[in-house]
Amino acid sequence: MGGCHSYPSATKTDGTALQPSDINNEKLGINNNNLEERPYLQQQFVCQRVTHTDMFALTALPPGIDKAEWLASNTVAFFKHINLFSSALSEFCTPSTCPTACGPGNTVYVWTDEQGRKLKCSAPLYFDYAMSYIQDLLTDEDVFPTKTGAVFPTGFVFLVQKVFLLLFRTLAHIYWCHYRETLAMGLHPHLNTLFTHLTLFCRQHALLEPEDTEPLQDLITALGQQGAT
Ligand SMILES: [Zn+2]
Repeated sequence: MGGCHSYPSATKTDGTALQPSDINNEKLGINNNNLEERPYLQQQFVCQRVTHTDMFALTALPPGIDKAEWLASNTVAFFKHINLFSSALSEFCTPSTCPTACGPGNTVYVWTDEQGRKLKCSAPLYFDYAMSYIQDLLTDEDVFPTKTGAVFPTGFVFLVQKVFLLLFRTLAHIYWCHYRETLAMGLHPHLNTLFTHLTLFCRQHALLEPEDTEPLQDLITALGQQGAT
């Protein structure tokens, strides 16, 4: 929308250099936008959404709908949306721009392979692994059955939680490392809407732990307050 494409300076308004104490995280680092501040928290950006629908009502389990079916259909929809969104920004996320997969406060995400080995990898590789992992799960009839009468497996909710953690991290990486590009493309109202929808859905259905969402708790709070007004 008009007026939202300009990008603020990374320096403080009084022109002084930022001090380590200005960043509320022990793992100090500079993200890929070279921003010491968190522009996604600025009021003029936080207020941008593509819809002001009641997200709380949208995410609640509708009466008469099976809970596992509701989780499954939303998991598929969120995956499709977030996969599409991250593809739109993929040209900006390369092994040289993002040598580590990181989120707010430079939290580093480490991929664990099927043998339990931890792999420190670039962001594009990490999110490639994540999207392939989710895609494989969603197309596995034993996990996400599509045939009438088929039952969801034991541990289904655990797998859904794992998927939502990876989806949350995908958006967290975009906010932290690619917000400049998101603004330049005018995608920030969509990003805020998608993120609000995802975090509310996870809260309603207890899919993410508080420590998972903590790196973006400031944004969740800001977007929540926005929605309440
Ligand atoms: Zn990246």
